[in-house]
Amino acid sequence: MKLPLRGGCQCGAVRFEISKKPLTLYCCHCTNCQQQTSSAFGMSLLVPREGFKFLKGGPGTFAIKAEAKGVQKTAMFCEKCGTRIAHDTKGNPSISVKAGCLDDRTDLSPVGHIWVKSAQDWMMFDKEDLIYEEAPDDGYFALMERWAAQEHA
Ligand SMILES: [Zn+2]
Ligand SMILES: [Zn+2]
Repeated sequence: MKLPLRGGCQCGAVRFEISKKPLTLYCCHCTNCQQQTSSAFGMSLLVPREGFKFLKGGPGTFAIKAEAKGVQKTAMFCEKCGTRIAHDTKGNPSISVKAGCLDDRTDLSPVGHIWVKSAQDWMMFDKEDLIYEEAPDDGYFALMERWAAQEHA
């Protein structure tokens, strides 16, 4: 992935830029992500907090329920068209950017899948992929390591 990466919402009111190398890309099949995307799963691109900024339009925000208790998670979305842009979990060094709103979506190859216990029955996973029944219990370390090894520079 060539930096900077740019993206935005469907109507163009909100634009953002990623200036630091993403840490990993995975798919989440939890029921929250299914509802949030109105689809089968969500795609999360973890980006170092200091490498993410809005170029245009401030996003709307609301607090969402996180899987873990006591975790404060904020959803950022376009107030005009409703596109979900990112999730910000308080205290995390990274922001979870919804990969589908990047301008260039030609090479979005996730290295793993989480919460597959609620994945759709027709989903097929590659033997090489990192697969987790629920949330990874290693702080996403293996997912980041696999991503780094692929050298998406
Ligand atoms: Zn919009
Ligand atoms: Zn999820």
